[in-house]
Amino acid sequence: MLANLSKGFFITLEGIEGSGKSTQQQLLAKALTELGFAVLTTREPGGTALGERIRELLLDPSWLIAPAAELLLYAADRAQHLAMMVEPALSEGKVVICDRHADSLLAYQAFGRDLPRQLVETANQLATGGRAPDLTLLLDLDPVLGLARVETRGNRDRMENETLAFHRRVRAGFLAIAAEAPRRVKIIAANRSIAAIQQDLALEVLRHLGPGTPGPK
Ligand code: ADP
Repeated sequence: MLANLSKGFFITLEGIEGSGKSTQQQLLAKALTELGFAVLTTREPGGTALGERIRELLLDPSWLIAPAAELLLYAADRAQHLAMMVEPALSEGKVVICDRHADSLLAYQAFGRDLPRQLVETANQLATGGRAPDLTLLLDLDPVLGLARVETRGNRDRMENETLAFHRRVRAGFLAIAAEAPRRVKIIAANRSIAAIQQDLALEVLRHLGPGTPGPK
């Protein structure tokens, strides 16, 4: 549709549990599809068949997983996902909207788990081969609200089971990452209605997709 989409456009949605990533991903995909963009929605961990198996392992609340093992499982999922799904879709000119990506590794494993940041960045580098998102939308929310939202989903997964203090470190990590990369990462206040958040997200995306893009319907 747009000349600058010959190489696709890679959007990542980041934020703590219950911040609304998957809800907003679906709405954004619908809006962009209606505007004529070819869209791929996907998630990490997951997306590929191998990744969905890794996701089951990572989110199963019955495991105790060592922090370094957790880091490597997330990185393995990401490497597979980039190679098998994201890169091919981008080379077809698609808009890829991914629920969680490299910033989650940094926020959870470096800020949350306290692993050395440089190790986490090396794992990300290995997994992504240096591919960075064109735009990252950070849904920022107090973990008290986020965890209350996911509570209604029923059984908590392994990450949702973590302490409030852990989720607070993760949130602070995401905000620190956003402050370091303000051109790529846009902070969206997620303590508002689904419609209000979606409006901000859509405007941000259309601004970045380039001049000549039709406005949101
Ligand atoms: P995430 O993917 O970030 O974990 P979800 O999109 O799955 O978050 O949302 C978690 C829960 O919160 C779902 O039940 C969803 O319907 C609800 N939810 C999402 N966005 C909002 C919002 N802005 N206000 C209130 N509830 C929301």
